[in-house]
Amino acid sequence: MDHCRECNSSIAPSETACVSCGSAVRPKDDGGGVAGKLLLISRIAFILSAIMTVASLVFSATPPFWKCAVAMVVTTFVKSSAEQMVEKKKD
Ligand SMILES: [Zn+2]
Repeated sequence: MDHCRECNSSIAPSETACVSCGSAVRPKDDGGGVAGKLLLISRIAFILSAIMTVASLVFSATPPFWKCAVAMVVTTFVKSSAEQMVEKKKD
């Protein structure tokens, strides 16, 4: 729970202004918060799945190619939606 900088009343995370005194609540960080973390994780997952997809064509010790390809498609989708979330936050 956040607290107002002006009157120290508690503020719900979804609220952008203090209900008691009306002062604007500054976001804790400009990195996009949850969306920013999701974007970072999805980018790492995408890179890993892309490496695995290429590796599955070369090495037999990796999961089947189709599984890697599906994982790469899913992480691509998650990554693009996370990017959209971060873009929306900037507006
Ligand atoms: Zn206040």
